[in-house]
Amino acid sequence: MLLSSRSLDSNFIKSCNIYNKTISMKKCKYCDQWLEVNSYNFVTSKTSKDGFENKCKSCKKEYDKQRLIFNKEVIYATVS
Ligand SMILES: [Zn+2]
Repeated sequence: MLLSSRSLDSNFIKSCNIYNKTISMKKCKYCDQWLEVNSYNFVTSKTSKDGFENKCKSCKKEYDKQRLIFNKEVIYATVS
């Protein structure tokens, strides 16, 4: 339930008032979902300004799976 929102940094971060509590929301650039910024929802990053990547945990999981499959295919292609 979003009572109010204002744009902060870019289109990817906004703060919302939910039940009188202000929380930071961030948009995953892969699945376009707005999620609360915390280490449960987002992948932590040392290089990012706010300490989190623009990629949510489930997209990261998916990304890693795809990469694993891709690597396997590359290995098989090289072997055969
Ligand atoms: Zn995502």
